[in-house]
Amino acid sequence: MESEFKVKQITKLYESCNKCGLPIINCICDIVPKIKTKAKILILSTEREFRRPSNTARLLKLVNPESTELILWERVRTPEKLIEYINSDDYEIHILFPMDDDEPVERKSKCKDSEKIPAFIILDGTWKEAEKILRKSDYLKKLPRISLNPINKSEYTLRKGASEGELCTIEAVIEVLKLNSEFENAQLIKGTFDLFMRSFKAGVSGVELKDINI
Ligand SMILES: [Zn+2]
Repeated sequence: MESEFKVKQITKLYESCNKCGLPIINCICDIVPKIKTKAKILILSTEREFRRPSNTARLLKLVNPESTELILWERVRTPEKLIEYINSDDYEIHILFPMDDDEPVERKSKCKDSEKIPAFIILDGTWKEAEKILRKSDYLKKLPRISLNPINKSEYTLRKGASEGELCTIEAVIEVLKLNSEFENAQLIKGTFDLFMRSFKAGVSGVELKDINI
């Protein structure tokens, strides 16, 4: 998925790497740690989102390649790959989406001990875009939902239009992993996300980032 769509440039000076999304001068592909989370993370994303350099789902795929699936969402087509996961007996599927108080109780889900592999569907993009994906996808509407009450506000400042404090995709994944008691993995992803943010900000000015520690 990561090589299918060309990531837009954030500086005229350098092309963007199609894997990490950063200008090639600050590509972090070779230095990010590789982890494998117990939970499967299924990210449903639009083509537009895949082309955005500020997309953080791509970064998650880089750090956690085996347990992350980036799946293209299209209004006119049902994503077969996702349907396979939903119908599989191997996975305990949840969708991350805020719930209203009047939501039927049986829809509210918690991470529970199960023989199955926990799998979390996360709708990529801004809150508004995620809402649109859910509204137009009947196959998502009946799934058990979980929502987050993050203690920390978002540190993601690369995108205009997101409401204040709204978590970006990778920050939401970090919170989901904490719910799944994967604290060490959550910490490693957070370190990579911090590096991504520093590299992105330097990259906007076409500057090479010297301090590349995670
Ligand atoms: Zn790269």
